[in-house]
Amino acid sequence: MKIAIVGLGLIGGSLGLALKKAGQPELGIIGIPRREETIGLALKMGAIDEGTTDLSKGVAAADLVFVCTPINLIVPIITEIAPKLKKGAIVTDVGSSKYEIVSQAEKLLPKGTFFVGGHPMAGKESVKLEAAEAELFKGKAWILTETSRTSKKAVEQIEQVVRRLGGLVVRIEPKTHDLAVAAISHMPLAVAASLVNAVAGEPEKDLMAKCAASGFRDATRIASGDPILGVDMFLSNKKAVQKMIGAFKRSLANLEKLIKEGNGEKIRDELARAKSFRDSIYG
Ligand code: NAP
Repeated sequence: MKIAIVGLGLIGGSLGLALKKAGQPELGIIGIPRREETIGLALKMGAIDEGTTDLSKGVAAADLVFVCTPINLIVPIITEIAPKLKKGAIVTDVGSSKYEIVSQAEKLLPKGTFFVGGHPMAGKESVKLEAAEAELFKGKAWILTETSRTSKKAVEQIEQVVRRLGGLVVRIEPKTHDLAVAAISHMPLAVAASLVNAVAGEPEKDLMAKCAASGFRDATRIASGDPILGVDMFLSNKKAVQKMIGAFKRSLANLEKLIKEGNGEKIRDELARAKSFRDSIYG
């Protein structure tokens, strides 16, 4: 098998390092970033065997193509590579939202080639190739999406590769995936950023900042991430994020109502319900 990785940032670079560590694939990895400098660095790090910035040339001989670029480029890149793929080639991606990408990619790929949406549930604060590591996917869920048009054989082939990297494959429908990530990945950013901005909008914000301790820091940590990544998250998963914002507003409005009523018993029930579910996840 020959593997092409389009986009060599944190995820694409880590994928290359993890594949090499697992002794994969027999015919080597071709890396396809945007800039020549990235090829040099990826070769030096041992994340790829060869590189090119020519997309069409790069994917022509690949049996499996991972598209690991920023999310807004995934569909344009699939559009560009579609006519250049060899027969039987499988294309997958790592974008953090799935419905739009999967529905468009399934229409774009020619007969005899296959698309399976993917999303490794792994990452870290520092992005870019310099932060890539071979162990990034170990023990982490790697979602593969299935629709009525998905080839079972293609999913199985990607699953085998992901397993060799130590990833745990979870197969779900794109819409189910998007609601889940809206809830557990995109909403925390929406809530953290809104909380910080609410405080920053208060006349006493300087005093508040002086008093801020670990509670505020822990609850808002992800508001310090890259704003561009946040824009991509929200806009590529609009419907599911809006649905979860609605659920969050109802939950907050209920708490507001109980506080207004001075209903200590019900407030305690709400907090106990939250504690119980959170503890069931993190212990
Ligand atoms: P990143 O570190 O910013 O890297 C993006 C890479 O894409 C760079 O290597 C860049 O190349 C390349 N690129 C940009 N435009 C390109 C083009 N037109 N053709 C080819 N390559 C191009 O991004 P990342 O954090 O790895 O994220 C990549 C994808 O993974 C996103 O879709 C994101 O949703 C998904 N994801 C990210 C995380 C996370 O925690 N970061 C987790 C799960 C999934 P140059 O270096 O040459 O500029």
